Amino acid sequence: MWQSLVFFLATILVVSQGSELGLSHQIHLLRPKSGSGGAIVPNVSCLSWRVAVEAHNIIGWSTVPKECEGYVGHYMLGHQYRKDSKVVANEALLYAQSLNLTGDGKDVWIFDIDETTLSNLPYYAEHGFGAEPYNSTLFNAWVLKGTQPALPESLNLYKKLLSLGIKVIFITGRGESQRNVTTTNLKNVGYHTWEKLILKGSAYSGTTAVVYKSSERRNLVKKGYRIVGNIGDQWSDLLGHHVGNRTFKLPDPMYYIS
Ligand SMILES: [Mg+2]
Repeated sequence: MWQSLVFFLATILVVSQGSELGLSHQIHLLRPKSGSGGAIVPNVSCLSWRVAVEAHNIIGWSTVPKECEGYVGHYMLGHQYRKDSKVVANEALLYAQSLNLTGDGKDVWIFDIDETTLSNLPYYAEHGFGAEPYNSTLFNAWVLKGTQPALPESLNLYKKLLSLGIKVIFITGRGESQRNVTTTNLKNVGYHTWEKLILKGSAYSGTTAVVYKSSERRNLVKKGYRIVGNIGDQWSDLLGHHVGNRTFKLPDPMYYIS
């Protein structure tokens, strides 16, 4: 109750200061240092943290700050995650539609899988939305269920790209041992066809996603493919070399992969 009162008084203060300063523009009344539902969080704005993460200003983080678990959960399960994903997919589609494609079957679009093509949100909803430390045993058991839903915006983009004559190549950090379950899962949720499904082979064990994915993209280019676009939820999907003519970053404030 007192928090609402403080916020109300602070609002009046900000608005009145704005008029005294003769500001003609609208002052957006963002709640400073607040998490979900406006709860006060000391020393951190979870919204600022998320923006910095998406912009790749905060890197190498291992877990979502504990005080931002609720904020990230609301973001992921609410409308904003879907809206943000839609903007990315729409921009990717507009770009793809602008291309003059040769029609020789060599134009390809790279899709990452986890949090790009398939969603692990049902898993993360039960594991603190990234605020709990990553547990490979539990996560791999979840992947082996093969029940990940599609990200609707990505599935829509996938279908539209195919209709434009662009082939899809998946490059994922999942290992070869997960090829069968991944194939079945992809097909079950609507990804019916692809040019290649590239999984992380044992030769790459211990290497970063940037090194592995760059190397695989180079192999594709050597084979004559033109990477017209590349979409992923991690910067490591989109950095390195042979990244493609344009890259598209989907939101993911739940984990960081280098
Ligand atoms: Mg991913």
